[in-house]
Amino acid sequence: MVCCVPVKGYFEENCFFYIDDHSLHGFLIDPGAEAGRLLDLIQREGWTIEKILLTHGHFDHTGAVSQLREMLDIPVLAHENADRYLLDPKMNLSAFCVGNWIVKDVDCLKDGDRAALSGNPAFALKTIYTPGHTTDSVIYYSERDGIAFVGDTIFKGSIGEYRYPGGDRNTLLKSIRERIFTLPENTVLYSGHSGETTVKAEMRRYSTISTL
Ligand SMILES: [Zn+2]
Repeated sequence: MVCCVPVKGYFEENCFFYIDDHSLHGFLIDPGAEAGRLLDLIQREGWTIEKILLTHGHFDHTGAVSQLREMLDIPVLAHENADRYLLDPKMNLSAFCVGNWIVKDVDCLKDGDRAALSGNPAFALKTIYTPGHTTDSVIYYSERDGIAFVGDTIFKGSIGEYRYPGGDRNTLLKSIRERIFTLPENTVLYSGHSGETTVKAEMRRYSTISTL
């Protein structure tokens, strides 16, 4: 099951729970704000969250990480380049919006790494490196369920911003072309700031306006 929870911090951002229906264990992706509300939901639903996964280190995707990690006592995983953002308020943009936020002690993922549930290794997300919005951007893909959590790399009807530190337009377009548009076309894409879409819908859009 995928549960999207829009949270309101400096920006509104979609955080996601990806939960195994049988064990009620799962992952929390990009908890950007409202730690207390997310904790209430976890308790109310009886979920056991095993890992927090980050699609990239921008502050609006990480604002609730420190509090949730302390309460849940679970690891936080992000791409191996993420410290460049997580430890630097100018890079993670918090310095310009909310003050100086940092997130320490995150475990590193490399392209191709899988995050799996302890009791059910088949319930897993594969890390796919998609730089361009930032140099630490990844998407998390479940082949089993045909879904991907894409952060700010692509949205319903638009692509990610590439003018922040570490961003690059050509790199972003290459990531979308080669790493997202090569997924099965019915793959559902869950982004950080838009409604859900599919690979097919976004490919169709770009084939008509030929941006990519
Ligand atoms: Zn971002």
